[in-house]
Amino acid sequence: MIVKVDFHVHTVYSPDSVITFQDLRDGCREKGIDVVAIMDHDVIEGAFEFAFRSEELLSRGEWAPRVLVGEEVRTTKGEICGLFLSEWVPDNLPPRETMDLIKGQGGLVYVPHPFDLLKLKRLKASELVELSGLIDIVEEFNGKPRLPLANVLARRFLGRHPFTRAAGSDAHEPTHLGAAFVEMEDFSGPADLMEKLAGGSISGKIYSPFASAYTLFRIRRKRKAGDRMGDRMER
Ligand SMILES: [Zn+2]
Repeated sequence: MIVKVDFHVHTVYSPDSVITFQDLRDGCREKGIDVVAIMDHDVIEGAFEFAFRSEELLSRGEWAPRVLVGEEVRTTKGEICGLFLSEWVPDNLPPRETMDLIKGQGGLVYVPHPFDLLKLKRLKASELVELSGLIDIVEEFNGKPRLPLANVLARRFLGRHPFTRAAGSDAHEPTHLGAAFVEMEDFSGPADLMEKLAGGSISGKIYSPFASAYTLFRIRRKRKAGDRMGDRMER
């Protein structure tokens, strides 16, 4: 069976995202996304909670996207994601240490938006090559690059270096879910994912960089209203 996977999504547990579990479920269903990797910034609780809730629904025979537990970890040299995590990975470590912590718990190392040159802290191409023994997946297509050219540069780099590629929307609000995804054979577990991902095909479209400003506006408005979601986002 072929599944559509969005490898990079943020929930309300990320300080800059407004996506609730209900939003995730509705959005994935609408966009035909079967599997979604939660990559909240430096927190893992949301990924655990969303994975639990989706498993609960699936076990009752109701529809939900399958959730992969991940985290987008800020390192001293930009962000590095872990997938199939069972424990939180602390931020602000050098990239090699972060990668070791991800690998040490049986996770996959996923490098998001590798050529977003407008990010001050990021791994350079030469460093990606240097760390290639620790990197499992590189994001070829990100839905929200600060620099639109970033995806072109990533594709060019990946044409010359044999990394396994994936794609993610980097959605911080429901309408962006599924903006980028991989269609691939269904899989179970990290090793199987790597095998099937090699034969996957990537699709994606970039959405407006102004979307982030809109997201922040909505978050502030919700915080002002002091509703439950607003409280949660104070975390
Ligand atoms: Zn992200």
